Order: sequence, then C-alpha cells, then structure tokens
Amino acid sequence: MTPEFLDITILGSGTSTGVPVVGCDCTVCRSSDRRNQRTRCSALIRAAEHNILIDTSPDLRLQALREDIRRIDAVLYTHSHADHLHGIDDLRGFNLRSKEPIPIYGSARTLERVRDNFSYIFDDIENPGYVPRLALNPVESRFALFGVPITPIPLMHGRMPVFGYRLGPFAYLTDCNGIPDSSLDLLSGLDLLVLDGLRFKPHRTHFNIAEAVQIAERIGAKQTLLTHLSHEVDHPRHDPQLPAGINLAYDGQRFSFPLGRQQTEPLRSQLP
Ligand SMILES: [Zn+2]
Ligand SMILES: [Zn+2]
Ligand SMILES: [Zn+2]
Repeated sequence: MTPEFLDITILGSGTSTGVPVVGCDCTVCRSSDRRNQRTRCSALIRAAEHNILIDTSPDLRLQALREDIRRIDAVLYTHSHADHLHGIDDLRGFNLRSKEPIPIYGSARTLERVRDNFSYIFDDIENPGYVPRLALNPVESRFALFGVPITPIPLMHGRMPVFGYRLGPFAYLTDCNGIPDSSLDLLSGLDLLVLDGLRFKPHRTHFNIAEAVQIAERIGAKQTLLTHLSHEVDHPRHDPQLPAGINLAYDGQRFSFPLGRQQTEPLRSQLP
C-alpha cells in the first residue's frame, strides 16, 4: 500500500569527526547550542509503519535511542566510508526485536566493501544472534520499498562514485562534490533536498558551502538543508546568512511531506 506521507528525521548532520571534535576548544565545539552538536551523518525516512535508514553512522545507537527508533526495515547505503558505515553492528539490536533479517541496498561496489570490511557479519554463521542478520541487495536504478519509489542518484565524491537517493519529493545527497547532468535530471520538483556542504574552505571531496549553495539554486528544491557540517560552521551565526530556502541541517530536525500517488502507481513494492 502506498503511504500517504514521508516523515524525515535528520539523525546526524556532522562530518566524519562529529562536532564537538575530540580535544577541540573552538567556539563551535564549546557551544551549548544543540544545533552545533552534530553526530555523524544519517537520516531516517518513515513511510507509514516502515522505517528506512540512510547509512549506519558510528553514532547509530545513540541516534536510535535519542529518536526512539524501534525498528529498521531497510538500509540505503550511500558509500562505504567509515563515518557512514561503521555503526553497522548496531543493526543487530533491531534484528533481535524483529527476528527478521534487514535488507540493505547500495551500489554493487559499496556492498562489496561492506562485505569485505565486515566479513564476520556475513561469514560467522556459527553464532547467530551475535552478529547482525543482513541481506545484500545491489541496486543501480529505480526500485520501490513499502510503496515508496526510490531512485539512486549517481554522484562523485572526489574520484569515488557514490549514491545519493531520491524518495518521492525528498533527496539526500551527502558526501559529494560533483553531480553529473544525468543525475541533475533526476532531481526536479523536490520539496526537500539534503546536500553536502561541509565547511567554508574548499575541500577535495566535498562541496563547500558556496559550491553547495550554487548547486542547490540550480536544483531548485523548495527547501535545501546543508549537512555533513564541520566545526567551522556555527549554526546561530551562519544559518541566517544563507539565501532564502537554504538552511543548515541539525540533529533531530524533522519534516513531513505528502507522497504523491502518481509517483508510485507504476511501481510494485519489492517487499510485502
Ligand atoms: Zn572545534
Ligand atoms: Zn565519504
Ligand atoms: Zn562522510
């Protein structure tokens, strides 16, 4: 059945170190503003009773406790960097509750890295209950889960090809500094875009804030949030300086959007 709404929660808005950075005394790291306290990048999409997680950050357990997440029905992986993957073992807690394996999705390359880096999960069949139970599902084009149309969006993260994802009126494009024209074509008519905007200084593999604003204006979503933020970025100081319709993301931020029927009718859900 097609869910009527998509509910989005920003689980983490921080770069790979998280903010505060260990041992740093800068004003952002010492800030008491909760919007400056950033766990590693991740988002949750709730569609009716199903929860779809984007990436398994090393802060997954804390994010799940903070947001009272009790089930994960699928995981979409953007790429295999540690800050997006290394909370994978925390999926075990959800297996123990549901007694079901969790399907995980990503490019063939990303899932190969998941399998290689966490071989104990896929090889240790002697100890069921002590490792997460996951089912690998490589994807390269549009599919659907629980009535939600999902389009992988190919992006460049330095020289590494990665995926963003579009789910109906929402797109999540973390860890990138290049969006091919063929991918821009997949991003028209968005209500909400979450986009990598690391920091002010340029970076070899991430959009900085000026680059992110430029590409966000080209994509033209109704609202854009910049994520994967470093401790250079001070929410109360810098958020008001961004153009209208573009803001800084923060942990725990929530949105809800109607899911248009026309977008899901031609698709069949891959899971019951
Ligand atoms: Zn700092
Ligand atoms: Zn990365
Ligand atoms: Zn990252």
